[in-house]
This record gives sequence, C-alpha cells and structure tokens, in this order.
Amino acid sequence: MPAPCELRRRVLCDLPPHPESQYILYWLTATRRLERNHALDQALDWCTKLNKPLVILESLRSDYRWSCPRHHRVLLDAMAEHIAAIDPCKIRYYPYVEHEAGAGKGLLAAMAQDAAVVVTDRHPGFHFPAMLEAARKQLKVRFEVVESVGLLPLDVAPGPLPSAYVLRRRMQKNLANWLGRTAADDPLTAYTWGRAKIRPQIEARWPEATTEELAPAMRLESKIPLAYEVPVTNWCGGTRPARALLDRFIEEQLPRYGERRMEATPTSGLSMALHYGFLCPSTILDATLASSDTSRAHILPELAKRANLSRGSRAGWWGLSEQVETFLDQLVTWRELGHRFADQNPDCERYGSQPSWAVATLDSHRADAREFAYTREQFEQARTHDPLWNAAQRCLVREGWMPNYLRMLWGKNLLTWSQDPEEAWELLFHLNNLYALDGRDPNSMRGITWVFGRFDRPFGPERPVTGKLRPMSSVNTKRKMALGEFLDRFNKVERLFS
Ligand SMILES: Cc1cc2nc3c(=O)[nH]c(=O)nc-3n(C[C@H](O)[C@H](O)[C@H](O)COP(=O)(O)OP(=O)(O)OC[C@H]3O[C@@H](n4cnc5c(N)ncnc54)[C@H](O)[C@@H]3O)c2cc1C
Repeated sequence: MPAPCELRRRVLCDLPPHPESQYILYWLTATRRLERNHALDQALDWCTKLNKPLVILESLRSDYRWSCPRHHRVLLDAMAEHIAAIDPCKIRYYPYVEHEAGAGKGLLAAMAQDAAVVVTDRHPGFHFPAMLEAARKQLKVRFEVVESVGLLPLDVAPGPLPSAYVLRRRMQKNLANWLGRTAADDPLTAYTWGRAKIRPQIEARWPEATTEELAPAMRLESKIPLAYEVPVTNWCGGTRPARALLDRFIEEQLPRYGERRMEATPTSGLSMALHYGFLCPSTILDATLASSDTSRAHILPELAKRANLSRGSRAGWWGLSEQVETFLDQLVTWRELGHRFADQNPDCERYGSQPSWAVATLDSHRADAREFAYTREQFEQARTHDPLWNAAQRCLVREGWMPNYLRMLWGKNLLTWSQDPEEAWELLFHLNNLYALDGRDPNSMRGITWVFGRFDRPFGPERPVTGKLRPMSSVNTKRKMALGEFLDRFNKVERLFS
C-alpha cells in the first residue's frame, strides 16, 4: 500500500491515540468510495500501527440544505454497494440513515468514545468544512482529516487563482511529482484485524440501515422527510455504475470529445460521480491514458522534463491527441480550479465576493430597463419567452443535468432577465444545487460565479444590464449547437411539476 500522503492530511485534534480503545474509526463523508481513498488508507495505517480493527461509519442526514429524493437516492445506492463490498472483508461497516431531522445527532461522538483515532475526509465544498469544525469541537480523541479531491493535493502550490491559466501553469510545474502517488487500489483486501464490536446502546439508539432499507425499491416518501417535488432520476449512485459510465465514455465518446462539448448530451456525464466521490480523478486519468496506449508510469518522465518549460498552454502538455488533451484540461485544470478556489476562499458563495470590476459593472447597470423580467416561480417552472432556456431548465428539473455549453447560457440569461444581480445569484445557486445531481460542488460555485465575472475578464462593448460581463445569447448558441432533438424532447414536457 502506498504511504499515506502527508500533504493531504491535517490533524484537527492532536491528542495521542487512546491505547485502551476498541477500534480505529473512519467516518466516511465526502469520498464515498473504497478505492483510491487517502483517508481510508490513513485509517488502515492506524490499524497497522496500533493493531486494532477498523470501523467505517457512513451516515446520511435528512435536513442538509437542498436535501431531496434525487440526492438521497444516489447516496443510498452507494451505501448499499458498500455493505456488499465491505461485509466479506470482515470489517464493521455502520450505515446510518436519519429518519427524522436531527435524529443522528450524537452518533459520531458516541462511536468516537471507543475509538483510538478518528479519521475522516476533508473536502472544500458544501457543508463539509462546517461539519468538520462542528466535529472537531465535539470529539475528545485524535482527529485527522485527509483529502482525496484532485490529482494535486490541495495544500501543494497554493496561491491566488485569478484564472484557469494561472492554475494550469502551476499544475504543469507540479503534477509530475504527484501523479505517481495515488491511494491504494484495493485497500481492504489485506485487512486482518477482524470485526469490531459496537456498543449495544449505540445500535439501539441509532439503528443501522439494512440492505432492504437502502434498496431502490424502498419508497423514500414513507420514511424520510425530504423535498419530494424533486424526484429521483435514472442515475444510480456508487462506484460500480460510475465505472461503467467511464468505460462507455472512453470507448464511445472520448474520440469525439471536442465536438461533443457542443452537442446537447452529457459529454462524459462523470461530474456526478466526481461530486459524490464515487470515482477518483486518477482512475479517470488512467482510463484516459490507457485509451491512448500509454500510462502514468510511461508519461511521467516526459512530464517531469517539460515541467520547468511550462507556459500554461492548454494544448500539447500531455503529448496526446487534441480530443484527449481537451478532456484532461477540463478534468484537471478546470475541476481543480473550483476546488482549490473554494478551499482558499470560504466566502466565495457570497454575492460581492467576485472581482471588483464585475461587482462595479453590475452595480452601474442596476437601474437599466430589462427587456424581459421573470419571477422566481417563472424561472423555476421554465415559463420564459425563450424555448431554449426553458428546455435547458426542464432538462435540469426532470433529469438532473444540463448540456455543458447550455449551462453557461442558462446562467447568463437568468442574470439578464432578473430584477437584480443578488436575486439572480441566489436563484442560480438554488436551482443548480437543488436539481443538478452534480450540484452543491465547488464547481457549482465555479460555474455560477463565472456567470458573474469570476475567472473571466471584462468584455466590450458594454451592454445593458450585464455591463462589461462576457455576453452570451440564445440566438448565437442556436447557430453553434445542433439543438433540434433537444428542443423537441424538452419542450414537449407539459407539466414540469405534478
Ligand atoms: C452555471 C454553471 C453551473 C455549473 N454547475 C456545476 C455543478 O454544479 N457541478 C459541476 O461539477 N460542474 C458545474 N459546472 C461546470 C460544468 O458545466 C460541468 O462540470 C460539466 O457540464 C459536467 O458535465 P460532464 O461531466 O459531462 O463534463 P465533461 O466535459 O465530461 O468534463 C469532465 C469533468 O471535468 C470537470 N469539468 C468540466 N467542465 C468544467 C468546468 N467548466 N468547470 C469545472 N469543472 C469542469 C467536471 O468535473 C467534469 O465531470 C457549471 C457550469 C456553469 C456555467
């Protein structure tokens, strides 16, 4: 097993491990997979050092922001997958699903009473930083957090991130040192410490979820208080379905990746799997390299040679085909830009946190007459004058995704047709994070704040309402994309909400 990566680890409570305790506790939260997971490796490393068994706790609250059957379903799928994968390894896995808001309070602290060390995932997005801070205040045991977010550890090569170019250059200089250091592929196979016992009082007060309860056939409505107007989709959660999606993408879609970005279909469709942590970016990288008959080991010496010559150029750095390089730029530069920015700027979801030129230009156009203006309900129910905007919104509400390019247009038009930029900001976060399966991610922030000028530059000539922000229009988009089928399909939807 590779040595746990020190630069990915932070110690939040620096106490010595309890010698008399029963187990090592891994609280699985953001990295919802059992492979290539640095936090899991770290927990297993403690099992080896202290000769103690592992307990994996995975719990699901019901009252997190934007909680709804759509998000819940994929998380329950992953828990069911974990029961099946962990049970044969004789590790105590404890899945817990809250059936009423607040019922799970106290579970982590109770389980930590018998733990020598608690290890969990570190993630810069959504509620994870606040959750870690709350846990840190409660726990009276050694508490370590380990991130498995990107190819480069979050704490390596930090610094201001005004643009993707700046990060691309930094990544190109540093990646060769890190690409060889992935977490273990199959960390549970060598486990030998047996199944730990959980106190009966814990099992009685917070009963663990059974396979039957997690199965798709279970009617969520009957059990858990959620926003039921956001129904489940056909997407399944867990690493196995995510791998199947990856295989299909590599075989069928990657060879046309550049063109597919302008089609009204999911390009890889992997953002949901990345968001929930079902897949590690290095797994996607490996599959991508294999499709070009190469591997990390093979290209590493070349990347190391080129590192100091890097000019941050988008094409040519990997030495692979244009389609593959375009995909890797999204997976590496753009994805990691959002995560690093969120990590360094905890207030980046506040209106006004975008660059000052962008705030100023929107301010100076507040009083402009809007050619079209809609209420929150009209936007949510896809009742604007624009069939393309409505189709994109319907796709989001019904299926939990939106074509890549349309996502930008969707955001820009909503801003242009809103009464004021603050209202648009709040509504975009709400719609994106409630309906999109990949929502509530650092890249939700990256995408939405881009609409308002973040990671972009001023554009002329200045326009009404959006001033110097980069403009986009449905008319131009229709010229660039083949949209006939997409418009037919989603504009046929008569009732968006039942
Ligand atoms: C208004 C708006 C909102 C957005 N909200 C989200 C969101 O909630 N969650 C989310 O993951 N992405 C979001 N994005 C970024 C981007 O649109 C999606 O990542 C992409 O459409 C996901 O589809 P895919 O997996 O098929 O992407 P692919 O083109 O196959 O890309 C592969 C991976 O690279 C990353 N990626 C691709 N494009 C971008 C990008 N522009 N910025 C950052 N990372 C990228 C994603 O992790 C993606 O899965 C948003 C963009 C905009 C303009």
